[in-house]
Amino acid sequence: MGTTNVLVHVPKKGVVINEPSVVAISTIDKKIIAVGVEAKEMLGRTPDTIIAQKPLKDGVIADYKTTEAMLRYFINKALGGVRLFRPEVMVAVPAGITSTERRAVIDATIAAGAKAAYIIKEPIVAAIGANIPIGSASGHMIIDIGGGTSEIAVISLGGIVSSTSVRVGGNKFDVAIAEHVRRKYGLAIGERTAEEIKIGIGSALYLEEKMAMDIKGRDIITGLPKTITVSSDDVTEAIQNELDGIILAVKSVLHNTPPELSADVIDKGVVMSGGSSLLRNIDKLITQATGVSAYIADDALFCVAKGTGIALDNLESYKRSILATK
Ligand code: ADP
Ligand code: MG
Repeated sequence: MGTTNVLVHVPKKGVVINEPSVVAISTIDKKIIAVGVEAKEMLGRTPDTIIAQKPLKDGVIADYKTTEAMLRYFINKALGGVRLFRPEVMVAVPAGITSTERRAVIDATIAAGAKAAYIIKEPIVAAIGANIPIGSASGHMIIDIGGGTSEIAVISLGGIVSSTSVRVGGNKFDVAIAEHVRRKYGLAIGERTAEEIKIGIGSALYLEEKMAMDIKGRDIITGLPKTITVSSDDVTEAIQNELDGIILAVKSVLHNTPPELSADVIDKGVVMSGGSSLLRNIDKLITQATGVSAYIADDALFCVAKGTGIALDNLESYKRSILATK
């Protein structure tokens, strides 16, 4: 359950749902109008009577009722049509989550129709999903950069040895891009356009062969629609501060890692997961900034969901990594 996307992995079936964590609600009777893809389409385009809400903020529940409704919707959808049984559900949460936040996730999952709910830390399942042998007595570092947060952890013997979570991720990149375009070109653009620019031409390092893209927005002086061309350098420049925040966090985890495990990390490199690790050259940037080679896991967007499915399927083997149960 990410800040940006909810993925549902059903054992033996794989990832069956991958939709934005957005809920559209009617302001008149508080009814839920749409969830997921359909609700995201409404973001920024809704009339006064509908609000499109993101129930999670910084990876944790910001709005309990909408989170529960969203979970219920996705659980039903994953089970498909007839519901003969109540499923066991495992939810991956940020490593830094408080016990109150953890309870809220468990309660929302049970209220949404689960028979049993398990909570596991995201870096652990990201590592499992990236095929890292987390049970071995050796240090492994994983960096998961999602929409709302970046989680950095060193794992050994199935547990987290050192970790941190910073509230920087793809969403902050989008905001920074929109601000940059507004300042430099006098053009107001929405979050979705900013995201399209980022995915289309964004890079964490200045590209040798620049890329460009035409974008539409509203001229802030005339108030009229306008098309301009932005370059990959614009994105790189716009997101410098956010990237610095991530690098600082990675360095702080490396500083807090016991020397034996640091040596393992240097030998094996750092594995990156999460949607924002798909930003061009972010692996090279991490490598340059830390001296430890970073590489991107296969199916980076799916690592957490896949790993959660594997952990749920093998509860006994991973029971030491499971945080809470109900
Ligand atoms: P979360 O776990 O927080 O829900 P995800 O791991 O699903 O987040 O990642 C979502 C983020 O990844 C979004 O900010 C999205 O814009 C970003 N993203 C997805 N694909 C790419 C890409 N190809 N390049 C850069 N960013 C991407
Ligand atoms: Mg995530």
